[in-house]
Amino acid sequence: MNNITGTIINYYIHCKRQCYLHYHRINLEDESGLVKIGKALHERHNTEEIEIDNIKLDKIKGEFVTEIKKSDADFNASRFQLLFYLKKLKEKGVIKKGRLTFLEKNKVDKKNHEILLDDSSEKELEDIISEIKILVSNSTPPAIEKNNKCKKCAYYAFCYI
Ligand code: SF4
Repeated sequence: MNNITGTIINYYIHCKRQCYLHYHRINLEDESGLVKIGKALHERHNTEEIEIDNIKLDKIKGEFVTEIKKSDADFNASRFQLLFYLKKLKEKGVIKKGRLTFLEKNKVDKKNHEILLDDSSEKELEDIISEIKILVSNSTPPAIEKNNKCKKCAYYAFCYI
């Protein structure tokens, strides 16, 4: 699963079309304000990204891998992204817990969440990875998922205009 990244896992949960477009390098996101904000946050929080294979981790300290997100707009997408990092580390013999930190708390009850890769979540993650492989092997992207989330998406112009 070397060509699957944490971002692709995140996008698959968030929007299957976004996942497909990003996987096939139809990238509009360099121009996205939200992506620029994300990069600025990493700089402000002094997080040096750590690269292992094709994944980039925000922070490893002690027993935790921390993933920092600007907002909690899609908790589950962020959760599976972090579970993917925990699984990649586990495959290298490194067992860690996950910590998901949201700088803005709107939908969830607290800013920090402990995320554990247990048998159940690992199986869910494996199923998602299998589904992604099928999705990206299609010759065309899935249909637009009309939703409020589209308004903030970097692909808005691509999908709607
Ligand atoms: S604009 Fe909407 S349908 Fe298109 S990729 Fe973004 S979230 Fe998905």
